[in-house]
Amino acid sequence: MVETSRRGLILINTGPGKGKTTAALGTAFRAAGNGMRVLILQFLKGSWHYGELDAAEALGKALGTPEGPAFVMKQMGRGFVKVGGAETDPEDIRMVEEAWNEAAAAILSGEWDLVVLDEINYAIGYKMLDPEKVAEVLRAKPEMVHVILTGRNAHPTLVELADTVTEMREVKHAYQKGILAQRGIEF
Ligand code: ATP
Ligand code: MG
Repeated sequence: MVETSRRGLILINTGPGKGKTTAALGTAFRAAGNGMRVLILQFLKGSWHYGELDAAEALGKALGTPEGPAFVMKQMGRGFVKVGGAETDPEDIRMVEEAWNEAAAAILSGEWDLVVLDEINYAIGYKMLDPEKVAEVLRAKPEMVHVILTGRNAHPTLVELADTVTEMREVKHAYQKGILAQRGIEF
């Protein structure tokens, strides 16, 4: 059966190719243009200043409502995480927990029409966040709230739960030719 009524969706942008975060930002831009309230929380990110932070601030001011800005983006990490053999720093885990608490409250509050959980799949993949906790909140979310999760290796439980899942496939990437990250394209 095709459901035609309006409803909030769970979307995942995953896979090894470039475009997971930027596709989420594109959707956020689209939602903002429709008068929707958008919150973007970036897990792990923090040390780099991304251009989208300034664009979001400007858009937030321009689209402000009496209840506050209608377009908000926040970095919730510090931009580098020890993985692999190294012990995960408890400070990074604390920051992920804090980010998740804020994300869960924002989703459940119904105050935002779209909540983007950028790079959350990495936090889950690095075992800093329990996918079951995330699934529980997504199952309990208000009907009309849309949620986008980004990052490689999306957890199967979340993929199962999601309505729309896109896997970015890498055909080629400039980095392989030794071309470093470019302003405006990568950050
Ligand atoms: P973007 O933010 O550009 O949409 P992304 O969200 O798909 O990228 P992430 O896994 O979050 O990718 O990686 C962040 C950084 O790594 C970005 O600067 C991005 O351009 C770069 N990147 C993404 N995919 C690749 C790749 N296949 N090879 C090298 N660098 C990549
Ligand atoms: Mg990304």
